[in-house]
Amino acid sequence: MSLDLKGKGINTRVTHAGENPDNVYGSVGVPIYQTSTFKFRDADHGARCFSGEEQGYLYTRIGNPTTNTFEAAVAHLEHGYGGIATSSGMAAVSSIYMTYLGAGVHMVGTDAVYGSSRMVIETDFSRFGVEYSFVDTANLDEVRKAMRPNTKLLYIETPANPTIKLTDIAACAEIAHEHGALLVVDNTFMSPVLQNPLELGADVVLHSITKYINGHTDVVGGVIVTRTEAEFDRIKSVINGIGGTMDPHQSWLVLRGMRTLSLRVERGEQNAQKLAEYLESHPKIEWVRYPGLVSHPQHDLATRQMKGYGSMISFEVKGGVENGKTVLNNVKIPQLAVSLGGYESLIQHPASMTHANIPVDEREAAGITDGLVRYAVGTEDSADLLADLDQALAKI
Ligand SMILES: *Cc1c(COP(=O)(O)O)cnc(C)c1O
Repeated sequence: MSLDLKGKGINTRVTHAGENPDNVYGSVGVPIYQTSTFKFRDADHGARCFSGEEQGYLYTRIGNPTTNTFEAAVAHLEHGYGGIATSSGMAAVSSIYMTYLGAGVHMVGTDAVYGSSRMVIETDFSRFGVEYSFVDTANLDEVRKAMRPNTKLLYIETPANPTIKLTDIAACAEIAHEHGALLVVDNTFMSPVLQNPLELGADVVLHSITKYINGHTDVVGGVIVTRTEAEFDRIKSVINGIGGTMDPHQSWLVLRGMRTLSLRVERGEQNAQKLAEYLESHPKIEWVRYPGLVSHPQHDLATRQMKGYGSMISFEVKGGVENGKTVLNNVKIPQLAVSLGGYESLIQHPASMTHANIPVDEREAAGITDGLVRYAVGTEDSADLLADLDQALAKI
């Protein structure tokens, strides 16, 4: 007897999505099927499993019950046909590129996309003849202008990292489809709780589960969800061959972390809104970017396409890099580290860390200034986070 989640609220869905594959012992926790291979009842059964006539597990690179529970859960939360878990977020990104790009094929991407998602195109896929344009996808005219007859993929990240610029998902789906291309959205910053790109017309959505979905800063992984069976089959077949799949123990950890996703996201957002408002009113702050602020240039779009504003804030301290460093070196609660989406607050400096491999002119063009500080807000008490930031700013 499985619970029908149709029409249920997000907390119920996060708690119960994905069926427990154990029908032997009745375990409430999902078991870890720590096996590389599966035996067949007899030769005919093996043949039927391989031909696809009968559903069955063959080999863990192709499928595993623990991983499958996680995949089904995320597919449910993203309102998609099916999920494919990958060994890292970049394995998800690269497998999507591998599926849809090729020699003489063009892609259009968000300029301020996750650093490696751009680098792997510019330095690696370009070696195989892939053509690309990275543009400011927040500006739909730029997206339209960049589309060519051989464009097969429109790849966006919204909110983008670390500029917190948004891209209109529904409008991009329309542009992509008019040109016979697919729209892929990196939804890592929002998690399936706050944004569902497939419902807005996207064809494929992906997450680095290293961030919000796992949420405990102890696992690296990724997941892809497609809207249709056809796209699922295409990507799945590439991943089966390339081999960047998630292992059963990793899947179990992620599933465990994911059950508190909606709680963590809710608390993080409450904290972020308070911190952003505090920073905005602080005389030593040049500017703050957070979608929940009315001053965010795309606050209306955020309210329309997102179910909340998330917990990522970017800001610049007056006086540039030196004063920014004073804040980074004096905050006591957020740890100085890259990554985001864990229960704990993290702070970092993109120009010298996550985005250091992007040439300065491209970085500036994408809005990643040298003084920009990125704050990934965790689930601590907001009063403690505010007091901590206050004492660090007082050190300037
Ligand atoms: C971290 C991240 C990735 C890459 O994921 P890994 O799990 O580190 O491989 C991709 N996109 C975004 C937005 C990310 O934050």
